[in-house]
Amino acid sequence: MMRILVTGGAGFIGSHLIDRLMSAGHEVICLDNYFTGRKHNVAQWYGHPRFELIRHDITDPIRLEVDQIYHLACPASPVHYQYNPIKTAKTSFLGTVNMLGLAKRVKARLLMASTSEVYGDPHVHPQTEDYWGNVNPIGIRSCYDEGKRVAETLCFDYHRQHNLEIRVARIFNIYGPRMLENDGRVVSNFIVQALQGQPLTVYGRGEQTRSFCYVSDLVDGLIRLMNGDHLGPVNLGNPSEYTILQLAELIRDRIDPALPIEFRPLPQDDPQQRRPDISRAQAWLKWQPLVSVQDGLDRTIADFRDRQQAAATLIADRLPEGSIS
Ligand code: NAD
Ligand code: UDP
Repeated sequence: MMRILVTGGAGFIGSHLIDRLMSAGHEVICLDNYFTGRKHNVAQWYGHPRFELIRHDITDPIRLEVDQIYHLACPASPVHYQYNPIKTAKTSFLGTVNMLGLAKRVKARLLMASTSEVYGDPHVHPQTEDYWGNVNPIGIRSCYDEGKRVAETLCFDYHRQHNLEIRVARIFNIYGPRMLENDGRVVSNFIVQALQGQPLTVYGRGEQTRSFCYVSDLVDGLIRLMNGDHLGPVNLGNPSEYTILQLAELIRDRIDPALPIEFRPLPQDDPQQRRPDISRAQAWLKWQPLVSVQDGLDRTIADFRDRQQAAATLIADRLPEGSIS
């Protein structure tokens, strides 16, 4: 049993990771400033003697005693990370410096949640870890992309300079239960739109591609990377690649095949194609995704339906009797 810190633990991926670490018997500290995280995501562990929840912003230093740090704190959806881009850059840079400083003081191993965005709009396809990327340093995605790139640099410099034990995961598009309904990411947008009987909004012509990995597969990969011998970087994602139009059709057909698809302008610097080469993860971690996109979407849609139902029940319970028919 170890004492493990998860920064961003109340977020989408962090909360699933915490579920797995708690179930494995570890002591877990969840640290979050609740920008995009929700207490509800970890409420199942409230009062558990091995669980602790700390409200803290990682741009400020913190002193804790831990064995491992999963460093996930950072908004991940373009809508959220572009809301306050300077804060996003600070979270990536200052936040990572603070967490590496903490790891150095207590000799903890730190895993950094990096991203496929370090490859930018890639000229190499599928993306291998030795590709250095094609990133616009001054665009609207740069606060996140460059933030993660410098966070990777910091990890490797702490390793070289201070012998710190680091692990770097380059995470591709992840989806699953607990994604925020309003986070603007493509899977959540399409599911929410379809459940509300609205048109699905495809940006551009929908020819751009992404590769979608179910969250439980990712969590498995993160834990293997943390506890294995390789520093990384390691791509973690599902190589099955879809155009955004194909994804829209896939989700629409599972909810209501009669719904229209509407085309909207493509955001600036939107990567044209993205698919992980996972040979390294397969060789080093003996890892590969197990959940098919079809299965994963069904589970995710069920979760969004449940949440929608729960919200509707809550509203109905609060309204005076007879005010709705
Ligand atoms: P998320 O937004 O659900 O979770 C991020 C969490 O970090 C939230 O709980 C948020 O409140 C917290 N946070 C943000 N800034 C903070 C700060 N300054 N101090 C403390 N807490 C802060 O996002 P997610 O999808 O769970 O992503 C988790 C990590 O994985 C992120 O680092 C993200 O960059 C990375 N990642 C995610 C994806 C994906 O598809 N979801 C892909 C690549 C990389
Ligand atoms: N996208 C879309 N409709 C939406 C939301 C997103 O067509 O309602 C597109 C977006 O332009 C991008 C892709 O879906 O090409 C994935 O977007 P997301 O924000 O989920 O992830 P990222 O671009 O960071 O990979």
